[in-house]
Amino acid sequence: MERIQKIFTLEWLNKLCHLPLDAGAEQEAHRQDIMITILMLTGSVVITGLSLWDILYASGPHWGNITTLSIGLLAAISYNIALLTSKTSLATTLLMMIFLHFFWLITCDVELTGLLWCIVLLPLFFFLLGYKRGGALVLMLFLASALILFRPEWFALDTSYSSSASYRFLLAYLVLFWVSFLVEYIRFQTRLRLREAKDYLNIQAKTDELTGLSNRRGFKQYLGEVEQRTEMRDSFAVIVGDLDHFKQINDQYGHEVGDFVLREIAKALKSLVRSEDLIVRWGGEEFLLLLVDTDLNGAQILAEKIRQTISSTHYSTDQGKLAVSMSLGVDAQKVGGDLYATLGAADRAMYEAKRRGRNCVVVSDSDTTENLGQEELDLPV
Ligand code: GH3
Ligand code: MG
Ligand code: MG
Repeated sequence: MERIQKIFTLEWLNKLCHLPLDAGAEQEAHRQDIMITILMLTGSVVITGLSLWDILYASGPHWGNITTLSIGLLAAISYNIALLTSKTSLATTLLMMIFLHFFWLITCDVELTGLLWCIVLLPLFFFLLGYKRGGALVLMLFLASALILFRPEWFALDTSYSSSASYRFLLAYLVLFWVSFLVEYIRFQTRLRLREAKDYLNIQAKTDELTGLSNRRGFKQYLGEVEQRTEMRDSFAVIVGDLDHFKQINDQYGHEVGDFVLREIAKALKSLVRSEDLIVRWGGEEFLLLLVDTDLNGAQILAEKIRQTISSTHYSTDQGKLAVSMSLGVDAQKVGGDLYATLGAADRAMYEAKRRGRNCVVVSDSDTTENLGQEELDLPV
């Protein structure tokens, strides 16, 4: 009952339309699966029905209608079996459709019925294969059909379409080819543009505008990815760095100079870490570094390098050269430990560095650090 309800609420059709924008090959294949299911079902019902009607009420059993009946039944059975993997189902469907194309073209020339059915198949090749591969296949079918229609003797065939019917069929086939190509091409391009726009917005949403570093949203997303990758979960080190007396720089040199310094600091940090590490603009003048596959010692060495680089750089301003320094706290993830606890410990170590007079690195003492939860770290939820 539920199944019938689903059919009437067009749920199956919605599945075709609601393909996610960032659909990977797997989801595209799923779309093909649905298309194939619909095609196989409709095709098998139509073909079986028509050939049964022909056998029972019209011309009686002969090889033509018996073959179509078999194809119809075969389609109905194979859609169930072949859908096990989308590649086999696609191949079976295509082979069946190509066979039907030529079968209809060659045998069903009663009042041009065969040609009409060949035209019906054309858009389906585009739906299944996309504008490139679908277009190429349809073009090959067009050329092969033209040969069969005008030179049947080459293939020892006996088609009796008039030449004007053949011309009109080929013309209609070409026009439908063009229309289907355009529709499929536009669908493809629209999805591509939408995906690009979505990717762009995604990057914007997780990037800090001033420095180009990750913002807290980007950090949260990154953490989500890390949680899914077990091999990464236990091998992190964290550095939290905060610029010293930055308010004074703003007060003395102005906000624009402050912004300039923040951008320069971001550049320096980028140049010091590896591409797989994540740098986050944690707060106004506070930065967080997540270092993959790094132990406490490695993180401490890097933190010291960052401190030295920053304190030894002088920035030119209208009012002369200016220097800044950074206080840094370091901790490394314990095996099976909580990443938030590591962040909290690095944060507290940074405050300890401030207490010790700033412009220094403090490594977290794991025995004295407590577990700081997500709320205490003020993570976006
Ligand atoms: P401390 O050594 O204790 O960290 O002192 P501080 O002055 O750096 O710390 P405080 O938290 O008192 O001040 C941080 C300042 O950072 C305040 C704010 O004006 C400045 N700031 C935060 N975000 C930005 C920004 O985007 N641009 C600029 N120019 N300044 C910023
Ligand atoms: Mg500060
Ligand atoms: Mg601060």
